[in-house]
Amino acid sequence: MPFPQPDRDVAVELITGRRSSDALFAEAGRLRDAGRGRTITYSRKVFVPVTTLCRDTCTYCTFAKPPGAGGEYLVPEDVMAIVNAGAAHGCTEALFTLGDNPEARWSEAVGFLERYGAATTIDYVRMLSEQVNEETPLFPHANPGLMDEATIASLRPTNPSMGLMLENISPRLLEPGMPHHKCPDKDPKERVATIEAAGRQKVPFTSGILVGIGETAAEVIDSLFALAELQAAWGNIQEVIVQNFRAKADTRMRRDAEPTVQYMARVVAAARWILGPEVNLQVPPNLTDDFGVYLDAGINDWGGVSPLTIDWVNPEAPWPHLEQLRAVTERAGFELRARLPVYPEFISEEWIDAGLMPKVASAIDEEGYARVPQADGSRSL
Ligand code: SF4
Repeated sequence: MPFPQPDRDVAVELITGRRSSDALFAEAGRLRDAGRGRTITYSRKVFVPVTTLCRDTCTYCTFAKPPGAGGEYLVPEDVMAIVNAGAAHGCTEALFTLGDNPEARWSEAVGFLERYGAATTIDYVRMLSEQVNEETPLFPHANPGLMDEATIASLRPTNPSMGLMLENISPRLLEPGMPHHKCPDKDPKERVATIEAAGRQKVPFTSGILVGIGETAAEVIDSLFALAELQAAWGNIQEVIVQNFRAKADTRMRRDAEPTVQYMARVVAAARWILGPEVNLQVPPNLTDDFGVYLDAGINDWGGVSPLTIDWVNPEAPWPHLEQLRAVTERAGFELRARLPVYPEFISEEWIDAGLMPKVASAIDEEGYARVPQADGSRSL
């Protein structure tokens, strides 16, 4: 009997275990193989924490810090040192991750931006993107939080792709006692508006959900359907990340239960079912010890993996060595291939700024995957 079409209530029963998920996993694998084949991708990246200042106070976060307690900006020299080290290790992505709109809260942020001639933090990201793009073989991939359309347009000439996690579509998580209370940048309406603006600007966009921050199973499924609707409307969601919450010692959510691997795997399989065969579906491999289980749940990407820098958002969770990632992937019957921060099917003049296309074209093979630079200056797969 064919597996049914995606359905909200059935999906909730499947991920909560009220209905057997064996057929769901079979369907997720079938859909992935039909749409993406047996290739699993990753992006060789360096993680650049542009600023650890943020105006929000998400109760699971250890990335953001106040001034004087680790909250600061990286100066351009520090950013370039990280990126140049990444170039020496064959990386192709400079992931700019940062707190949201810190200048709205901290005078120290305003002072830093004035000293460096930037109108806003995102304008500072634009300046860094231009320098990285001009001086190194890496491609910036900006994750600077909420963006309006003009901001996205200002980053497009240097960023072949950008990102913002939806996290969850439910406004309930903004209520008192919930993790996004008084976090204006986590309003799902605003996050949807950013993804739509990126769609209008023809920017390949990374988004996804965060699982285990106090949402219900129905809200997980609603979030996946919301991403599916955005993709149907704009076609610019180049990948969907399903990320598991990890409880961190020095946060208000330190005693909250983390989602189990079994629950996560069911959510990932449901994501493949709801989002369809073509979507690029990713689970970060550094947040689950036995990460290979997600191959059976329909993923086709491991996301950004750094041979060099730590995951500043989850500093307790090192990325697996690339050799281990390759071994796990190949043991399960897949081929591991490096990609740029932008996926092969988005490498066209429709999606990439014309001024950036020559650099992108020189960094890919005939199938659009990354040619990893070697230490001697040559390029190989
Ligand atoms: S999760 Fe992001 S938005 Fe929330 S406090 Fe941390 S850096 Fe800021």
